[in-house]
Amino acid sequence: MMSSYYQLGLIGYPLSHSYSPRLHQAALEAMVLQGKYTLHPIAPLPGGEKDLESLLSQVRTGEIQGLNVTIPHKQNVIPFLDHITPTAQAIGAVNVLYRLDGKLAGDNTDSAAFRNDLKAQLPQLHGSGQKALLLGAGGAARAVAYTLLQDGWLLTIAARRPAQAVALAAALNGPAIEIITLADVNQKRLAVTQLVINATPVGMYPEINATPLPETIKLPPQAALYDLIYNPAQTKLMRQFEAADVPAVNGAGMLVEQAALSLERWTGIPVPRSVMQRSMAAQIQKGN
Ligand code: NAP
Repeated sequence: MMSSYYQLGLIGYPLSHSYSPRLHQAALEAMVLQGKYTLHPIAPLPGGEKDLESLLSQVRTGEIQGLNVTIPHKQNVIPFLDHITPTAQAIGAVNVLYRLDGKLAGDNTDSAAFRNDLKAQLPQLHGSGQKALLLGAGGAARAVAYTLLQDGWLLTIAARRPAQAVALAAALNGPAIEIITLADVNQKRLAVTQLVINATPVGMYPEINATPLPETIKLPPQAALYDLIYNPAQTKLMRQFEAADVPAVNGAGMLVEQAALSLERWTGIPVPRSVMQRSMAAQIQKGN
């Protein structure tokens, strides 16, 4: 819906390192739209309920046109919603809030963002019947697992706490997901895998020399790596894969895509990805 001034923002805690304000500001300018993207640090629950409720009511009334939601509030906002999309419901997490017919609605754009960026960056993969190995079973892993299952991947989740992966599989209520521990990831398993996805924060700035897979493990030449981490732009895990001539991409494209999909939801206008991509690259370079 067109508005003359877009009041947008992000709810989370802490938010000091967020790239989102500049991504959105760059896109708004390129789209010749007026608006502001504000950070709203809201304390974790219990504690932040009142602030959360008052901010969300401003989306319902239209004072704020849209909000993104990040850790630790992606689940916390759900009870406040009047409407939730089937995708967000299935994933159990909301990362974008908007007004729909005077009601407060929530969706999850991480799922489509992962799908779109995977297709753009690793077009040789088609999913259906291929094997994916997902490292981690936290919030981002939920959106990724949901998307992979929707697209017909055969999914194995490797988590340091298998109970967390069991809960994820139960929540998705999907076809069989194989669950193993991170320590069980070996050469034999990798040899039959077409896509490895890192959804753990291992290797993220400032711990840039950490990796979720041992350096000694032989990596599969037939596979590809999608690392959700975007800072640094090249993780240690990506370097391991690239040293074995395996294509490896980072999560910058997914972050940009979820931002673009959110802004399109709020404005109804196509968002130029290239502008956001340039802002993202500049921020990563400057950030460390
Ligand atoms: P999260 O909810 O905290 O989940 C993290 C997962 O990694 C959990 O399963 C956690 O297990 C596991 N983990 C944490 N430290 C580990 C370690 N040292 N060894 C093994 N496993 C470990 O976080 P999230 O929101 O899913 O984010 C995960 C990563 O994805 C972060 O790097 C984040 O920046 C990135 N991300 C990127 C995008 C994007 O658009 N590119 C979007 C969302 C997230 P425990 O519960 O046992 O700690």
